[in-house]
Amino acid sequence: MEKLKLLYEGKAKKIYETAEQDIYLVEYKDDATAFNGLKKGTIVDKGIINNKMSAMMFTYLQKNGVANHFVEIISDREQIVRRLKMIPLEIVVRNIVAGSLAKRVGKEEGYALTSPVLELYYKNDSLGDPLVNDTHALALGWATADQLKTMKQMAIRVNELMIELAAKAGIDLVDFKLEFGLCDGQVFLGDEISPDTCRFWDKATGKKLDKDRFRRDLGQVEEAYSEVYKRLREVIASES
Ligand code: UDP
Repeated sequence: MEKLKLLYEGKAKKIYETAEQDIYLVEYKDDATAFNGLKKGTIVDKGIINNKMSAMMFTYLQKNGVANHFVEIISDREQIVRRLKMIPLEIVVRNIVAGSLAKRVGKEEGYALTSPVLELYYKNDSLGDPLVNDTHALALGWATADQLKTMKQMAIRVNELMIELAAKAGIDLVDFKLEFGLCDGQVFLGDEISPDTCRFWDKATGKKLDKDRFRRDLGQVEEAYSEVYKRLREVIASES
C-alpha cells in the first residue's frame, strides 16, 4: 500500500491518502506535545511503540466486538485504517482521579472513583479542547443522540476490556481518551490507543508508565512506553 497525498499532519501522526478511496495510511511520529502544544519534544521511537500498541489494542478490541478503524499494520511506523468522517468530540473515561480532573474537583491524584466517569471534550485546538456536555454536542450538531449513546456504550466496553487486560499486566488503567468517526453511517472507534492517550500506573509501585513522564519531566519516558507495550503484549499473547 503506497502513501499518496498527505492529508493531515497532527502532533503525533500523519495521515495519507492511498489508492483506495476508503483507506488511509497512518504514520506514527516520535514528536510529543503537551499542555496544548506549549511543551514540545521527541520521545525516541515512540512512533514505533504507539503504532504497534495501537494495532495490538485495536485488534484485541475488534476480537471483542468493538468496531474500530484498524485494518493492518504495514511497517514499524505505519498502519492502514478505514477512512472515517470524524466526530469532533473526545471521550475521556476515568477510573482514578488524575490530571485535569484532580484540579477541577479538588481531589488528590490517585483517588479511586466509585464508578467510571465519562467526559466529553470539543475537539478544537484553538479553543484548547474545552469540556462540554451532551446538550452542547446535540445543539451544536456535533453528534446525534444515537451516535452519542453508541459512543458512550463503546467507551464503557473499551474501559471494561482494557481494565481487565491491564490488571493482568499488573497495571492500573487510570484514564484514557477515545475518538470516534462514521463509516457508512456506523460509529467506529478511531485515532489511537497508546501511552500518549492513556494513563497507566504500575499496580505495585504506582510508577507512571505513560505520557505524564514526558509532561512532568520524570525521565525514563521511552522505557515506560516500551514496558507497557511489552507487558500488555505478553498478556494478550498468553490468551490467544
Ligand atoms: N488525553 C489525550 N489527549 C488530549 C487530552 C487528554 O489523549 O488532548 C488523555 C490523557 O493522556 C489522559 C486522559 O486523556 O489519559 C485525561 O486527560 P486530562 O483531562 O487529565 O488532561 P491532561 O491533564 O492529560 O492534559
